[in-house]
Amino acid sequence: MKRWLPTGILLAILAFVVLRPPAEGEPVLRRDFPAMGTWISLSVYYGASERRSAAEQWLTETEQQFHSFDRQWSPHGDGALGRYNQQLLAGAKPHLPSELRALIELSDNLRERSQGLFDGRLAGLIELWGFDQEANFRQQPPEPAAITAWLEQHQNRRSEQRWNLGAIAKGELVDQTISRARAAGFENVLINAGGNLGASGRHGERAWRVAIRHPRPSKDQRLLATFEPRNEAVITSGDYERYFEFQGQRFHHILDPRTGHPARGLRSVTVVHESAALADAASTALFVAGRNWRELARQLALETVLVVTDEGALEATPTAAQRMQVSGGLQPTVLP
Ligand code: ADP
Ligand code: MG
Repeated sequence: MKRWLPTGILLAILAFVVLRPPAEGEPVLRRDFPAMGTWISLSVYYGASERRSAAEQWLTETEQQFHSFDRQWSPHGDGALGRYNQQLLAGAKPHLPSELRALIELSDNLRERSQGLFDGRLAGLIELWGFDQEANFRQQPPEPAAITAWLEQHQNRRSEQRWNLGAIAKGELVDQTISRARAAGFENVLINAGGNLGASGRHGERAWRVAIRHPRPSKDQRLLATFEPRNEAVITSGDYERYFEFQGQRFHHILDPRTGHPARGLRSVTVVHESAALADAASTALFVAGRNWRELARQLALETVLVVTDEGALEATPTAAQRMQVSGGLQPTVLP
């Protein structure tokens, strides 16, 4: 089975996070567009009516920025990261462009703090599994020998491994977009980059309200939970974004660098944190940690985490259990 852009992702995104559509007459503008291999939704609560055209202009500029970061951070092509990767591949001493430095440093930092479960240098493995581009999408897993060869190379020649920032770049972009919005005088904005959400301020009198997609939605339960972020990011990693099925097993896009295979044990991990970049990398790392996610969450000082296991059970930190409204009357098991 093949699930991929555009239909798979579009459907997933539609179901993923339901931003309450602005009611008629509310001073909110919303814009949706594709970028970074997913669907982006920007909402701005501009308040006074004379701010409306400035808000429209901000949306237009922000959309342009998403497209330019898309190019800059793509592991392929002629953007900054694509060129850097080509230099690594050619064995040349690569020059790290200044616009990538902060994100690469943050990635390295989070790789260390997650004991390598989040790793920004998995481009080769991701390509082997075909999760990098639609053109490479596979119907079955790669040859075991190819995975073994990658594992050996990864352990021995790390410095030559190419970068893929797919598990952190959208979070970073959410952070940057919110900073820019505030600098432009828009305190109240909501961004959804394919399930990577960032909220600043409020929606007028009420808080922003977001919904987290159920990893196995049904007619009765489409949403996993709703949440009211307070200047926070709400980031979810799941096994449903990109995957194929082979011989009854699901092979998805979050890979365990220790095995070279898709991580097992969980269906989704949602992390709330004031830094979207950190939450993005952390949600991926916890997903790879699998059933041991709680220990890593403690090490990374994450207070608000909600998890769905591969048996469909819900687990949460105390803060998540308290602040998330889980749908369908379910109560997560609280792991202190
Ligand atoms: P999404 O991109 O769906 O929001 P994630 O943030 O979890 O989900 O990122 C998954 C993407 O990150 C994969 O498509 C792949 O490009 C890359 N990736 C996969 N496994 C890892 C990993 N262990 N560490 C870092 N990046 C990864
Ligand atoms: Mg992530």
